[in-house]
Amino acid sequence: MIRLFKFLKPFKVFIACVLVLVFFQTLADLYLPTLMSDIVDKGIMKGDTNYIWKMGGFMLLIAAGGTICAIIATFLSSKAAMGLGTILRSKVFNRVESYSLHEFDKLGTSTLITRTTNDITQIQTVTMIIMRMMVSAPMMAIGGIVLAFLKDKYLTLVFAVAIPVLAGAITLLAIKGMPLFKLMQVKLDKINLVLRENLTGIRVVRAFNRIDHEQARFEEANIDLTNNYIKVNRIMAFLMPALMLIMNITSVAILWFGSLRIDNGDMQMGALIAFTQYAMQIMYSMLMVSMMFIMVPRAQAAAVRINEVLDTTPGISDAAEIKEANEKRGFLEFKNVTFSYHGAEQPALSNITFSAKPGEVTAIIGGTGSGKSTLVNLIPRFYDVDSGSVLVDGVDVREMLQEALRSKIGFVPQKAVLFSGTIAHNIRYGKVEATDEEIRHAAEVAQAKEFISEMSSGFEHEIAQGGINISGGQKQRLSIARVLVRKPEIYIFDDSFSALDFKTDAKLRAALKNETADATVLIVAQRVGTVMDADRIIVLDEGQIAGMGTHRELLNSCEVYREIVSSQLSEEELA
Ligand code: ADP
Ligand code: MG
Repeated sequence: MIRLFKFLKPFKVFIACVLVLVFFQTLADLYLPTLMSDIVDKGIMKGDTNYIWKMGGFMLLIAAGGTICAIIATFLSSKAAMGLGTILRSKVFNRVESYSLHEFDKLGTSTLITRTTNDITQIQTVTMIIMRMMVSAPMMAIGGIVLAFLKDKYLTLVFAVAIPVLAGAITLLAIKGMPLFKLMQVKLDKINLVLRENLTGIRVVRAFNRIDHEQARFEEANIDLTNNYIKVNRIMAFLMPALMLIMNITSVAILWFGSLRIDNGDMQMGALIAFTQYAMQIMYSMLMVSMMFIMVPRAQAAAVRINEVLDTTPGISDAAEIKEANEKRGFLEFKNVTFSYHGAEQPALSNITFSAKPGEVTAIIGGTGSGKSTLVNLIPRFYDVDSGSVLVDGVDVREMLQEALRSKIGFVPQKAVLFSGTIAHNIRYGKVEATDEEIRHAAEVAQAKEFISEMSSGFEHEIAQGGINISGGQKQRLSIARVLVRKPEIYIFDDSFSALDFKTDAKLRAALKNETADATVLIVAQRVGTVMDADRIIVLDEGQIAGMGTHRELLNSCEVYREIVSSQLSEEELA
């Protein structure tokens, strides 16, 4: 947690002010009982009304001063703590944005969300409390003991019994409570995970009538968290009355022995009143410390999780020496590329070698899981190769600026992703400064114009979060349009025509031909019809190239391709 406090730097002045203000507030708190005892002993006991008025007024002034200090301190400490939260959130967010897909695979989305929200809130709360207590708790405890001692030496002996008992009780409960508090964040993660899966997969849940199952799953996570809370609260429920009991017994003891001393004439009435109040202050400061025992471990656990996010360095970052791509445009080359996912036993791709140049269409075909998506994901450097190299415009992608590399590429992912906003907004995502005309043209080429014009507000139609209010094929066409406005050097379509009917597929590819005439095009597809007229077809099988060539060549030479073709043709013939 200490490491995270370095982000408090911009609030140095605030924190200094808070510490000073809390110092004065505590000073006032410590001074008030002494004033009170003076009023009792020198005013009330002697019947000096004047003195009572004078000192009473002074007391009010001190009390008001203390309150004002407390209010300003609260205000400033909130500002500093919230500021810390803001900084941490943006740090975590920026770090997560820079992650490569490997890191996402490793950490998982749900926990990243909890870490950015709840964990940081924990830190924020504790920071505020620490700022206030750091000064006041020790000052009150030590100051209280010293002042009480000055009032009456013998009565302080009561503390010799009370304080160890209180400290013992607090320690015992802290030991029991701390592990439970640390578990809280992990259990919260679990709830988030179940909730997220449910919300995104609601259709599947409904279709398979698994609502009961999902409810049970959520219930389990929920009850798990609840039980943890209950356990913690049981401890707290025991802690508070126990502390109160100890405090009250202490008060009774003080009054008991104090009145004996007053009877003997060893002590004055006012001194006893002040003494009781100091006793309360001492106990109260210990109570605050016990609260810290409970809050800090939880925040500590949160801090560890946040640090984990901040410490995870992106596996993919720009090289120290950036190489500019030369004059070449749209040249793509795979040289003996082998790649495996973290933790996978077998490489997802091995020994892939091919090249493509502008004006050419390269198609990649193969069964599901054969590594087609993996192959195209290497081009924008979503992952780094294990061996071999991927070259774009003659330069290894690892030696290029990621931004420069990605600006050359128009990538249509297998799973079309749209953002909430209008259709025009989504297409413009590909090129911020695109004109309305460019957007209309892109939509037309992507065969999206028809369904857009059927919508009541056309290009201004609002897409819901995740694009759930349009069909899968419409989503695919919009994500194609988004790439078309970009006019990149290299187009990559990862199974982007799978949700289109044969007719639209054919029309779209015909229109694309003109649009992408000077560009390098990579089409990943399942259908033979989609790839048939490509300049080069790469047949992938279990991460290896099983054959490469034109449709005709492959029909003669490649067994895997022949199987694919015959399976689909017979299907069509049957239909
Ligand atoms: P295709 O696109 O041809 O259907 P993929 O390239 O998506 O196939 O997957 C190839 C192989 O890599 C599969 O065996 C799959 O299980 C594995 N794989 C894909 N993505 C990941 C990932 N993020 N982490 C680990 N393994 C993966
Ligand atoms: Mg795929």
